[in-house]
Amino acid sequence: MIKKKIIIAIDGHSSCGKSTLAKSLARELGYIYIDSGAMYRVVTLHALRNGWIKNGQPDREKVIEGMKDIKITFHWDENTEKNTTFLNGENVEDEIRQLEVSQNVSPISTIAEVRHQMVKQQRENGKNKGIVMDGRDIGTVVFPRAELKIFMTASPEIRAQRRYLELKEKGQEVEFDEILKNVEDRDTIDSGREVSPLKKADDAIVLDNSYLTREQQLQWSLERAKEKMEEENES
Ligand code: C5P
Repeated sequence: MIKKKIIIAIDGHSSCGKSTLAKSLARELGYIYIDSGAMYRVVTLHALRNGWIKNGQPDREKVIEGMKDIKITFHWDENTEKNTTFLNGENVEDEIRQLEVSQNVSPISTIAEVRHQMVKQQRENGKNKGIVMDGRDIGTVVFPRAELKIFMTASPEIRAQRRYLELKEKGQEVEFDEILKNVEDRDTIDSGREVSPLKKADDAIVLDNSYLTREQQLQWSLERAKEKMEEENES
C-alpha cells in the first residue's frame, strides 16, 4: 500500500526550538524541511545591506521593490545534517542568525507584500506534501489544511536562555537581557500585527516544551504524525 504523505505545520513563539524539532521530524520521516523564518531573515538582511532600515523602521517601498532581486534557496547537507540558506547563491546562514537581523526581522515581516511572496514560495515547496515547515502562520495561512499542526511555546526566560547559549557557543558577544528583550519584542510584534498574526490554529495541538528534552519532543511529535498518517491511509 502506498503511504500517503502529510504536511506538518509547526508554529509558535520565537526561540522555542521549532526548527530543531522540525528538522528532526523531517529526518525521521524522510520529509523535506523548510525554515520559513529564514526566508524573512534573508529579506531583512538584504534590506539592512542596502540601508533600507533606519532606526528599526523599514522603507516599505524599497523593501517591496527590492524583493524582485532576491532568490532564496536552501541546501540540506547530509553530512553535517545542517540546513543552509542562500541569498542569490551566497551562503548567508550565519549572517541571518545574528542579533541585528533578529532585531529587524519582525517589522519586515509585517509587510503584506513581503508575506504574499514568501507564502507563494512556501506553498510551492509543499505542493507534493511530505514536508515539515516551521514559522508563525504555517497552520493558519500557508497550509490551513495541513494534516498535523503543532503550536509550540515555552516561557520567555527559558527561550531567551536557550538562544543566549546558542549564540555564545557560536562565539557571538551577547547579553542575556538583550536577548530576552528581543524574544519579548518579537512575540509582541508577531502576535499583534495585522497581517497573518501568530496565533494557534483551532485544530493545532499545543506543545509546551519548557521542561521537555529534545528527544521527548521528537517522540511525542512522531506519535502524532503517525496517527495522522494512519488516518490519511484509511481515508
Ligand atoms: O523562526 P524565526 O525566529 O527565525 O523567524 C524570524 C522572524 O520571522 C519572526 O520573529 C517573525 O517576525 C518572522 N516570521 C513570520 N512568519 C513566519 C516565519 C517567521 O512572520 N512564517
